[in-house]
This record gives sequence, C-alpha cells and structure tokens, in this order.
Amino acid sequence: MSDTLLVVNCGSSSLKLAVFSRDMQRQAQILAERLGTSDSSASIERKGQRQTLQLPDNSDHQQALTAVIEHLEQEAILEGAPLVIGHRVVHGGETFREATRIDQHVADAIHRCGELAPLHNPVNLNGIRAMQSLYPDTPQIAVFDTAFHQTLPDHAYLYALPRRCYQDWGVRRYGFHGTSHAYILRELAKKLDKPRSNVSLISAHLGNGCSVAAIENGQSRDTSMGLTPLEGLVMGTRSGDVDPGLFDFLQRKGLSQDSISRMLNQESGLLGLSGKTNDMRSLVQAADSGNRAAQEAIDVFCFRLARYIGAMMASLSHLDGLVFTGGIGENSPRVRAKTVRHLRLLGFEVDDAKNENHGQDNNGSINAAGHGIYVIPTDEEGMIAREALEAIDRSSD
Ligand code: AMP
Repeated sequence: MSDTLLVVNCGSSSLKLAVFSRDMQRQAQILAERLGTSDSSASIERKGQRQTLQLPDNSDHQQALTAVIEHLEQEAILEGAPLVIGHRVVHGGETFREATRIDQHVADAIHRCGELAPLHNPVNLNGIRAMQSLYPDTPQIAVFDTAFHQTLPDHAYLYALPRRCYQDWGVRRYGFHGTSHAYILRELAKKLDKPRSNVSLISAHLGNGCSVAAIENGQSRDTSMGLTPLEGLVMGTRSGDVDPGLFDFLQRKGLSQDSISRMLNQESGLLGLSGKTNDMRSLVQAADSGNRAAQEAIDVFCFRLARYIGAMMASLSHLDGLVFTGGIGENSPRVRAKTVRHLRLLGFEVDDAKNENHGQDNNGSINAAGHGIYVIPTDEEGMIAREALEAIDRSSD
C-alpha cells in the first residue's frame, strides 16, 4: 500500500480526481469530461504540465475511472493501492453528520438519500463501486456536502410547511458546500490563531454554485441552500430564491414540470439575467463595455448576496469575519466591493487597495474598518482528503 491519498468527485457527465501525498501536497489533478459521448477525454495536470488522455467511446464512470487509474499507475503518479480514497457525496440527509467509512450499510444509506439528490447520489455511488472494485482493500470514505450543516437549529432548518412534509418526506433545509465552508472555518481559525470552537464567521462560497453560511463558535447555524442546492443566492445558471407561487403561474402558462425545473436550474441566474453567459469574468468585461443586461446581472447577484449576508447576522452573537471564497469570491474585487457597499449600516467596509490585490499583502484581510473581511481560497479536494484521513483514524480508534 502506498502513502497516497485519492479524492474522487463524480458529477453527472464528468469526473474529478485529485492525488495527494501523505503530507497533503497535491501531486496531480484530473478532470474527465463528456462521459457517455464519443468525445470523452481526461486532462491530467501534474507539476504545472498538462496531458490529455483519450477515453474509450461512450465511457461510463466505471470505465473512465479504470482508464484514468491505469494511466496514473503507468506514469507512477499512483504506485500501489492508495492509503485511503475520499469520495465527495452530495447528500447525506439526516443520516450522516461526518465523513464516514463506506461499508454495505453506508452504501445503502447513500442510495436512500438519493431520493433527495437524484442527479447526484447515484453517480457518486457509481464512483464508489468502481473504486471498490479497483482497490477492494483500501478504506473508502464518504465526505458529504450536507454533513457540516447538520448542526443547524430547528428554527433554521424547518420550512413553514405542514409538519408531515418534514416528518414523512424529510423536507427541510439541509445546506450544501459544507466541505468548503468547513475548510474556510479551519483557515480563518488558523489566521486568527484561535481554536475553531471560538470562531464565528459568515462564509460566502461564490463559484458556479453559490451559498453563504453562518458559523457560530465552529458550528454551522444557518445557510442559504435548502432542501436542494437551488435555494438562496443567484448562481451561474440557477435562480436561487423565487416566489413559490411562480410554479403555479408558469404551469398555467403551459410550461411542463420538466421545463420549469430546467429553467430554474440551467437557464436562470447570471445566464438568465444577462442572456449571455454564466461566467462572472465575461460579465464584468461585458458590463465594462456598456452591456446593460450584464451590469444588471452583476447588480442583482451582489444585492441578493448582501441581503443574505445581512440575514446570516441573525444567527451570530459575535463575528470574527466575513470570508469570500470560490472562483468569484476569490477573484472578483468588483463583486466584493459592490456587495459590501450594501452593508455599511451593518458595520462592513472594504479597503479599495487591499481589495484590488485580494488581500495578498495583508494575510487575506481586505476591510478598511469595522468587521473583518477576508479573501481565502477554498480547497474542497484537500479538505476531503483530510477528512478521509481523520475518518480512518476515528474508525481504527
Ligand atoms: P468555481 O465554480 O469556483 O470554479 O467558480 C467559477 C466562477 O468564478 C465563474 O463564474 C468564473 O467566471 C468566476 N471567476 C474566475 N475568475 C474570475 C475573475 N478573475 N473575475 C471574476 N470572476 C471570476
């Protein structure tokens, strides 16, 4: 058995792998795309070099994983079975509060949680089964997007619906991006040199998917995503919050359930508002060249985010910092400044110069006065690897 840690993240038509050494140094990063088509390939990044591996036609996750692992072994990126394999699993329902070693009982429970995430959990399970057959003796750990938010109090996770919706069907706020929010908590605690259990923050994960979380003394107390990852902030192609009356309205207009679902998940958000792109970097460029719809998309994005940051304050008794992370949060001074401008009354103020260089000369800090504001790059794969290691330590105690 080698000293390598492997992280596997299976999406609907893609597959990401990351290889870490025992001391958490990233050795390689693999992205396989267009699975299930005649054009699927994997790009492998290692020590600044990129290689492309053509995958067999119409590869499913199992075939793609087998081909990628064979290649990693040939290239000596993997030498022997990994020490542990961490799998990103989207939905752990109320069953999983922490990363968990996978046995048949755990796999069955992940399958049952698939009712809440039908697009995600079944493919996550395909990845797990594929790795179990490739490495039957290696511990496989499931790391759940929802687990970090299992500390939400009743008043934050209950929807104001008839009780039976929760009791019979599990309809409640679960929250997602837990791995990223937990990593941000860890990093802020390190920066402040405080134990995690004393750190309170608002974490804004802004990537293609976006969510905020209120973390009080190291525990998640509220978050913007809900039963599904559709609720809350404006995202790349997802609407975030809309009036629930919209469903009725659109159905009366003749739209089917499938087309409404497609609209809200794939055709809305920054893409829907701008009519152009879901990519924030392109939107900023378009807005700078006078495109009004692009400017409005950015405005709506920042305003909704500011509203949610305000709402997260209701769950905190003190605040060590507001943290921006994810592709947009880490890289867009425009979004950070515009959002924080709405929050003056709550005591937030950005320092323009520090914001422009992403806090790089100030240990990530970008506030002028008032509450701390930070830019901290997230590392979901590194966090999954760490959590997987911690889980095997726990299971061997
Ligand atoms: P992620 O899902 O975390 O990779 O984030 C993807 C999002 O980050 C996309 O909307 C990108 O346009 C955005 N992004 C990446 N770099 C920048 C940048 N320099 N300025 C604005 N947005 C960026």
